[in-house]
Amino acid sequence: MMKLSTPDDFFIVSRLEKIPFLFHGFGTRNWREKNFKERTEWKNFKLIFLDQIHSNVIHFVDKVPDKNLKGDGMITNLPSLFLIIKTADCLPVLIVDEMRKVIAAVHCGWRGTQKRVIKRVIQDLENHYGCFPSSLLVAMGPCIGNECYEVGEDVRESYEEQGFHPEFFRPHSSRRKKYFLDLKEANYSQLLSLGVQKKNVYSLDICTHCQKMFPSFRRDGERAGRMLSFIGMSF
Ligand SMILES: [Zn+2]
Repeated sequence: MMKLSTPDDFFIVSRLEKIPFLFHGFGTRNWREKNFKERTEWKNFKLIFLDQIHSNVIHFVDKVPDKNLKGDGMITNLPSLFLIIKTADCLPVLIVDEMRKVIAAVHCGWRGTQKRVIKRVIQDLENHYGCFPSSLLVAMGPCIGNECYEVGEDVRESYEEQGFHPEFFRPHSSRRKKYFLDLKEANYSQLLSLGVQKKNVYSLDICTHCQKMFPSFRRDGERAGRMLSFIGMSF
């Protein structure tokens, strides 16, 4: 389902790779901003970054913005743009409507997930671009796995207040009021609740905390750096 494009470079989803107009990837720590320009087929692509704020704010990118937009999701139907999400343990999600030629990139940390940022993106795709959730292809990139993502009572409670099922939190075996959050499942369940098809969701099941090729804030702190996840269309 997933393969490494070239060693120490970026991971792709085979199904998305088959779409002739689409480019995408989940970068390892070795894939940096300068690497985009090294590929001749991408020389006219503009790189679109967000100032990510752990929100559920989504932007429709209908032109190249003068400065970084603040928010955690981007949607566009324009070619020659790379929508880029930066993460270190949070979940990056890339979405494409193959028929309508619309793409989205989303940053899902525990805060954004609790604010249902992914759900809002799917609704925006539906309402603004006429996409059917059942036709969307969704790629979930590497993030911190549920074996490693320890959180406190405050996080569990904030999810409970927002009506999340407690199943996403597994109690710690020895530490009181500590839990393991399944970030991927908490987002996956939102996708399915809106009509996204199970067969159309591709998950790269690699834990950023366990795999040194990816930056991990939990493992490396401030010096972790960020992995770049990207999606873009040619004409
Ligand atoms: Zn892990």
